[in-house]
Amino acid sequence: MAIRPFQLHRPRTLEEALALLEEHGDDASPIAGGTELLVALKARVLHYEHLVDLKKVAGLRGASIDAAGGIAIGALSTHHELANHPVVREHLPAYAALSDNIANIRVRCAGTLGGNLCFAEPHADPPALLCALGAQLVLERPGRSRRVPMQDFITSDFTTAREDGELLTRIDIPRPVAGASFAYANFGHLERPAVGVAVGCRPAGSGLAFEVWVGAIAGRPVRLDRVERALEGAPAGEAAAVARRAAEAAAGTLEAHDDIHGSADYKRHLAAVLVGRMVDAAARRQAQAQT
Ligand SMILES: Cc1cc2nc3c(=O)[nH]c(=O)nc-3n(C[C@H](O)[C@H](O)[C@H](O)COP(=O)(O)OP(=O)(O)OC[C@H]3O[C@@H](n4cnc5c(N)ncnc54)[C@H](O)[C@@H]3O)c2cc1C
Repeated sequence: MAIRPFQLHRPRTLEEALALLEEHGDDASPIAGGTELLVALKARVLHYEHLVDLKKVAGLRGASIDAAGGIAIGALSTHHELANHPVVREHLPAYAALSDNIANIRVRCAGTLGGNLCFAEPHADPPALLCALGAQLVLERPGRSRRVPMQDFITSDFTTAREDGELLTRIDIPRPVAGASFAYANFGHLERPAVGVAVGCRPAGSGLAFEVWVGAIAGRPVRLDRVERALEGAPAGEAAAVARRAAEAAAGTLEAHDDIHGSADYKRHLAAVLVGRMVDAAARRQAQAQT
């Protein structure tokens, strides 16, 4: 099916882009790489009279270290750029690896992190790891800027806390605490993940504290605090086994959807397996960083 005609706007500044969205209201949509939106427009699931192309807007790409030592990522950065960006590779190696594993090279070169988060397709990789990293999303509209924690941004399938007329401009990741490590892995037999698990690990007293997130399994990432509590005080060498047992116990209550990626029970099983593996991976990286 051909896309119904629309007017394409190509602003050069954020102010111009925001003004266009304000002027055309519900008749306008931002477009970044177009890897999701163009498919929906072609299928005529969506239609807008005006598309505001963000690709030429200055200042929305790349990654840098901010004044507080955190990492600021421009929302228009493509997955390919982030996989290869020196700042991301040095300070967020788990995130660089995740970006390098998204889809295929064509999607990675066109698709942006901002588009991934704003579309909120549930079978996505970045949200779970960004939750574990404590990311904050910066949303702007004319005369107002606000921050939303990643864990509150995606509210359900294809739905976010972004309000009409707002653009996601930046993803801020706080400087990881000394000795912290992160691990992420997904599993699926289609292009998108059926399940993804992100684990953060940091020194706490004489042991380690873990943060465990499961993504792609339901409409929004889920934090497995039961697993985190079970890991409190567990010897590092036993953490993976403790996590796996706790994840199996917690998995029964995990919200999961039956869909083309697998049954809900299959995904719960995958989640428990990946939790054990990622707790192990994060603990090993943490130990290696100390030597
Ligand atoms: C074949 C295929 C395989 C894929 N596999 C994976 C995978 O393995 N893992 C994974 O995580 N993802 C996967 N994806 C999803 C991919 O990551 C996204 O398609 C891509 O990141 C979307 O970015 P985009 O710039 O193309 O968004 P667009 O299509 O341009 O936009 C998507 C939506 O976000 C809105 N939007 C875009 N940017 C902004 C902004 N800055 N502020 C506000 N709203 C904005 C648009 O209005 C639109 O509603 C896959 C996609 C495809 C097509």
